Amino acid sequence: MILLTIERERLLKFLNELKRETELIVPVQRLGGVTFEQIEDIDEVNLLEGNPLSSPKQFFFPQTDQLFQLRKGAFTFKEKLKRKKRILFGIRPCDLAALEFCDRFFSREHGGYEDIYYWIRRRNTFLVGINCLKAEENCFCFLCGSGPFARRGYDLQLTPLEDFYLVEVGSSPGDKLVSSYSHYFSAASPGDRREKETLEERTKKEFSHKIDLQKVTNKLSKDGFSGAVIKNEFWEEIGDRCLDCGGCNYVCPTCTCFSILDKTDRNIEVGERMRIWDSCNFSGFTRMASGANPGANKRDRIKRRVFCKLLFSQENQGLPGCVGCGRCLKVCYGEIDILRIAGEIQAK
Ligand code: SF4
Ligand code: SF4
Repeated sequence: MILLTIERERLLKFLNELKRETELIVPVQRLGGVTFEQIEDIDEVNLLEGNPLSSPKQFFFPQTDQLFQLRKGAFTFKEKLKRKKRILFGIRPCDLAALEFCDRFFSREHGGYEDIYYWIRRRNTFLVGINCLKAEENCFCFLCGSGPFARRGYDLQLTPLEDFYLVEVGSSPGDKLVSSYSHYFSAASPGDRREKETLEERTKKEFSHKIDLQKVTNKLSKDGFSGAVIKNEFWEEIGDRCLDCGGCNYVCPTCTCFSILDKTDRNIEVGERMRIWDSCNFSGFTRMASGANPGANKRDRIKRRVFCKLLFSQENQGLPGCVGCGRCLKVCYGEIDILRIAGEIQAK
């Protein structure tokens, strides 16, 4: 593992230089909170305000995505994907873990298929992560094993130390980049590594949520979706509190369900195929052309979501479907976010 340091001022100059050659996406402060955006002005970088509500997933799997255009007669497909190089800077460890989950979901591994729309963007994006020194009120990455410090998934990983950033190189593109811009970096000392370890231990102690998610997963596994362990009345109560808004799905960095929509002009001469995010909480999510709908009941939909996040994802992708980012805790009006439900299942 190559360990370097970079001073704060020099980090901004480094990013500014990179920005001349490539798109740079960073956390910025906007009305209503922090968000990831492509920037022109380097002074807009904001690493102080916690994790943006919208996750980096949007840059690989956008909320609405044109897959191709169609023209009647010639029947031509025109793919619209950009192959531009990008740097996504300031990703938190939970979101790096979520990207690992999405990588598996959109790849051939685990019985899937390679999704070119995802992978063209993913392979053209360089990831710079940053470790968290503060446990936000809603965060529980520590319980999911995805934070507060990242172990993998980055090209470069930063840890804010007292006077500068410690930089860990996590890939050969990362190695190549720091070698090309070596004048910005200095070698780290053993003391810098120790400081990082101390900070990690200190941050872990800040997390206030105490749920044992493995025990919850074991209970779900024992239930096997049968209702033998967690009765239908429980899911009924939870379902009654769900407003079908889909907010939890939209903010979740690991939710990967989508719908396909074909649009044409009035004369049906020119059209496009769109991919749009879907929500397993919507009543139409599993509705079939015949009108039959195995998920017509809110109770069944929310139950499926919880099983998907805490059990099925581990069985299918070999990774937890919840990385503890805390976003659904912020947006759920029904107060039935994943952590609250997990807590209630644990208490049963
Ligand atoms: S955010 Fe809450 S209320 Fe909205 S769909 Fe999700 S569980 Fe239901
Ligand atoms: S289920 Fe909630 S806490 Fe877990 S990864 Fe999704 S949004 Fe984050």
